[in-house]
Amino acid sequence: MSARLQPLEDLPPEIVDIVARLEAAGFETWCVGGALRDRLLSHSSADVDVATAAPPDEVLRLFPKTVAVGVKYGTVGVLDRKHVLHEVTTFRRDVATDGRHAVVEYGASLEEDLARRDFTINALAYHPIRREWCDPFGGADDIDRGVLRAVGDPAGRFAEDYLRILRALRFAARFGFEIEAATWTAAIAGAPGLRGLSAERVREEWLKGLETARSVARLVSLWQEVGAAAIWIPELSVRSGVAREAPEPRDPIVLTATLCSDAGEVLTRLRASNSDIGRARAMGAGPAEPVSGAPVEVRRWLAQVGGAAEDLRLLAAYRLGADPAWGPIVEGIRERGEPTARGQLALSGDDLVRAGVPAGPALGQLLARLLEAVLEDPALNTRDRLLEKVRAWS
Ligand code: ATP
Ligand code: MG
Repeated sequence: MSARLQPLEDLPPEIVDIVARLEAAGFETWCVGGALRDRLLSHSSADVDVATAAPPDEVLRLFPKTVAVGVKYGTVGVLDRKHVLHEVTTFRRDVATDGRHAVVEYGASLEEDLARRDFTINALAYHPIRREWCDPFGGADDIDRGVLRAVGDPAGRFAEDYLRILRALRFAARFGFEIEAATWTAAIAGAPGLRGLSAERVREEWLKGLETARSVARLVSLWQEVGAAAIWIPELSVRSGVAREAPEPRDPIVLTATLCSDAGEVLTRLRASNSDIGRARAMGAGPAEPVSGAPVEVRRWLAQVGGAAEDLRLLAAYRLGADPAWGPIVEGIRERGEPTARGQLALSGDDLVRAGVPAGPALGQLLARLLEAVLEDPALNTRDRLLEKVRAWS
């Protein structure tokens, strides 16, 4: 057995309290899921999931504050004193599946509950009171070796839920793990089943993968090699690619735009939010960068791209592996408060109408001309100097 399986010292006391209460009521209860894997890998991790022999109605009865987060799947949210929610899920076994949804049954043992989990590294359990591990599928050894392996027969496990193929790619890229040979062969063979997944689930995997991958390039090659890209993101191209190490912060929407020829189309297919699709389209509209690093050119570019400027700067950083040369120029312009949009002009359309300019298309043209003048020379942006300009032009 792996030497990693030492008692855990850093489990939140709220979790230990939840386990203790369920155990005191006579229900075997364990910590499970990705948080244990992350701790064994010394990765930062989200909440610790709790799995219990207690059926959902018992969990609802035993805790004063609960939320029925996923009672259909046996999950009850337990609120601690600070109103933080912890998920408590009843041991279950999968009895049927159509490759998209599992039909579950309670009354299962811990071992059965672990057996329905996707990968060995996700199928460990820890008992925080007895301070013992349960690792029936050798998950800790696979963590030692850096191997991602399906629990049980990989082809069968992927056919139960094809999303597991995408999860395999995400975990392999996140931890820098190799995908075990039989698991990998089954993933390739099962890839056509990815067509039947909902766009929402695919999107979540894709974006979460980009956010967490140690190497984005590896994640992209895995999606391509397994056949997932051909089905869901054919626009994905290595050529447009990211630098070996995508700098922080990781923004999955900007990364999608960096990696795909038409990110707006990709995110529409993946049913992303209108705001995310809008960001992708704005980046696509460009221009991707200023024609030079001269402040006047950078101001002109800022005026053109508007709200997409920061996304485009990050996109350039992903391509280069570092902030582009014009990045600090943008910052300087912002710090000095130099105007790059009509709304920032010291003179508004209303002011011009009051000064006698007739409303209509000519007014718009005049404002555009004023902005162009101010982009060239930000010092012009006072009421008086702009009115002077208008008089000189008329
Ligand atoms: P992360 O939260 O970092 O994405 P995780 O392993 O915690 O990783 P979750 O989606 O939060 O992933 O799921 C919690 C646990 O439930 C997993 O560790 C795994 O044991 C199990 N699980 C989740 N999704 C599936 C699935 N599609 N098939 C089988 N087991 C799954
Ligand atoms: Mg999780």
